Amino acid sequence: MIRCEQAAKRFPGGGEALAGIDLQIDAGEFVFLTGPSGAGKSTLLKLVALIERPSRGQVIINGQNTRRIGRRRIPQFRQGLGMVFQDHKLLADRPVFDNVALPLVIRGVGHREVGRRVRAALDLVGLAGRERQAPLTLSSGEQQRVGIARAVVGKPPLLIADEPTGNLDPELSLEIMELFGRFNELGVTLLIASHDVDLITRLGHRRVMLEAGRIVGDNGGAG
Ligand code: ADP
Repeated sequence: MIRCEQAAKRFPGGGEALAGIDLQIDAGEFVFLTGPSGAGKSTLLKLVALIERPSRGQVIINGQNTRRIGRRRIPQFRQGLGMVFQDHKLLADRPVFDNVALPLVIRGVGHREVGRRVRAALDLVGLAGRERQAPLTLSSGEQQRVGIARAVVGKPPLLIADEPTGNLDPELSLEIMELFGRFNELGVTLLIASHDVDLITRLGHRRVMLEAGRIVGDNGGAG
């Protein structure tokens, strides 16, 4: 599903955020990307999401080399990808429904179908019946669930998340990670950057460790 071959990223004026990594993630895997701040976790997610391009090497998603995906095809490419951010990136002046509906509306999905799918997504994240609420009236854990509902509403086969529990206390963090686990059971491939070592060790999925732009550990999913 994701294959990096000597993928490197150098930002203008900086060192190498990623120093040529080789990584393969198969469909259906649940992978944590871990390592200290500045290790290159966000950069790798950005290469996968085509927010950034590799300066060397290849990133291949579902058999497509991202180098060959031109700018105009990025929106279509991103339909196959759900993204969750630490700070939710919700529209504060729009109710929960509109926030979750956004990816479908952009895609031109009919309004009855939007309603059906938004309700299904909110149901999956445990927020059924909260469509009309404003995001800021929700707790931070609930806001992150809205962010997850928005990421999954288009049923992407791949979900990536950058420090999705970075603003949450340990108990809520565990709940959010368990929620990701449920999507993984439904067949979604997950790649989640987190430096919360205690939590991700407890969850026992595959852990790929980055340090200074290099992979320094990969337990391949074993314990
Ligand atoms: P992490 O997510 O593991 O904290 P990042 O991928 O954000 O690490 O950063 C890796 C390195 O790349 C850091 O040294 C960071 O300062 C640098 N970096 C990240 N984004 C940019 C950018 N847009 N411009 C310049 N340097 C950047």
